[in-house]
Amino acid sequence: MSVTIVGAGPTGLTLACGLLMRGVEVRIVDAAPGPTTTSRAIGLQPRGAEVLRRIGALGTLPEEALAMQRMCINTDRREVLSFDVDEIFHQAGYGPLMLVSQAPIEASLRRRFAQLGGVIEWATAVVAASQDSTGTWVELSSGERLRSDWLVGCDGAHSIVRRSADIEFRGTARVERFWMADAYVNTSADHGTYSMWMHNEGVVHAFPLPSAGRQDLWRLAADAPLDRTSEPSEQEVLEFLGGAVTRRTQMTDLSFKSVQWATSFRIRQRLADRYRRGRMLIAGDAAHIHSPIGGQGMNTGIGDAENLAWKLALVSSGRASEALLDTYAAERRPVARASVAATGAATRATLSRNPLADWLRTGVLSLLAGRRFVQDRIASSVSQMSVSYRRGPLGSRRVVDRGPIPGDRVPNLRLGGGGALHDVLDGRWAVVATDADTAERYADRARTRLGQGAVVPLTPMENRIPASSEVMLVRPDGHLAVRTSRPPEVLDRWLQRMLENGTTR
Ligand SMILES: Cc1cc2nc3c(=O)[nH]c(=O)nc-3n(C[C@H](O)[C@H](O)[C@H](O)COP(=O)(O)OP(=O)(O)OC[C@H]3O[C@@H](n4cnc5c(N)ncnc54)[C@H](O)[C@@H]3O)c2cc1C
Repeated sequence: MSVTIVGAGPTGLTLACGLLMRGVEVRIVDAAPGPTTTSRAIGLQPRGAEVLRRIGALGTLPEEALAMQRMCINTDRREVLSFDVDEIFHQAGYGPLMLVSQAPIEASLRRRFAQLGGVIEWATAVVAASQDSTGTWVELSSGERLRSDWLVGCDGAHSIVRRSADIEFRGTARVERFWMADAYVNTSADHGTYSMWMHNEGVVHAFPLPSAGRQDLWRLAADAPLDRTSEPSEQEVLEFLGGAVTRRTQMTDLSFKSVQWATSFRIRQRLADRYRRGRMLIAGDAAHIHSPIGGQGMNTGIGDAENLAWKLALVSSGRASEALLDTYAAERRPVARASVAATGAATRATLSRNPLADWLRTGVLSLLAGRRFVQDRIASSVSQMSVSYRRGPLGSRRVVDRGPIPGDRVPNLRLGGGGALHDVLDGRWAVVATDADTAERYADRARTRLGQGAVVPLTPMENRIPASSEVMLVRPDGHLAVRTSRPPEVLDRWLQRMLENGTTR
């Protein structure tokens, strides 16, 4: 079985690694002449980092990145919210929110892909795509007609795969325009704090960025005049940002030294009606786009790809029926829908010129945001660590005393033999039990459905989760499949239902 992936951005590369790791034949093509050197995303959330670690693609990103220390939100008059992001993330066990450009993240994924034996076909655009009952066709700009069993569009917002599969991409083209620059600047602002200022004229965002030990690289972004529709020059962007910083913020000592990248972008929000039609699937920006506030887009695409990879591999190997692929949209589309809604609301709240919104921002936000439980909620949502598939076809809403229920992310349990759960999964399923013999016995049972090398038995260091009488089956993406005190046949029946029917309810 073969898979063609269109697009070698973060989503396509994560999917390609996940498939190659499982021995699926992959071709990945990209219209661009080569990798991009400029960056759109700058935030690798703990969940994104966890996925990259699981597929062996995290590499040296933690050393290259800058951990966001504080977040500070201001009106033009005063600070309304300031909290220690790093402390909250660490206390929750998430790890850091890494500020690192999309370009090195993609480079790290490409290194892993090459290590697995993969080759990216650059300067190769898909110009047409179609399918029949047994496979898919794409026409490449090279003139080649490529046949494969499955086609996945990781080809961004204007996805040709999505259009060829006749999938609607509904939403609104919001009118806000932002001008932004990644620039070396002189400023006394703390290079560890992300700041946002909300002013009657508009907002300014200032993100510190890593740059080989330097402390002066920042991403500055501000909403720009709506009457200007043509692309601004680099000089215009810098002049506009300099003025916006002076008028809208308290960063009064800022001046530019040099610029890495200056551009403009529009905020749009759209969500695909479905993620699959027959043998064509979509993932990442091809399936959902929204405001960059909160740094969710790339991380959501990486999560889509991990979810799809293990399912498509099971279908390709003949172990699962096509019905399993429908669980991909059932689990991932609600995550994107929530992200579109939350980032849309946050963008409207920050940009609204309405006096009521101003009162809400200064009064209610400062009152609520000082509370620790509100900060914890923001951290759990932004980090994506609370993403759960409980409500999906492989989840369950059965309440248990403590710990995860099927569909939830399993915490990164420390293991008896050293290491932690998410670090050793390596694309496999895990059976976790408090004694090694039990873990092995249940794992053996799961292997009859999933394959010999596909299940690893593990014992945790403490028997808090699972309890001493329990066994957990953990999916390759770190979510809980089964938690049971009953015999191994329970695992077998769950796996049979998942593989044959794509639902375990
Ligand atoms: C200003 C800005 C800031 C952002 N900040 C963040 C952030 O901090 N955190 C975050 O998580 N997200 C952020 N995002 C969003 C993030 O950049 C995207 O969500 C991410 O790039 C999506 O990855 P992707 O692989 O799905 O698509 P893309 O990165 O768009 O990749 C698609 C690939 O498909 C290729 N392609 C397209 N059409 C074809 C074709 N016909 N044939 C062959 N190849 C084709 C393209 O060349 C491209 O390489 C930001 C976005 C913007 C604009």
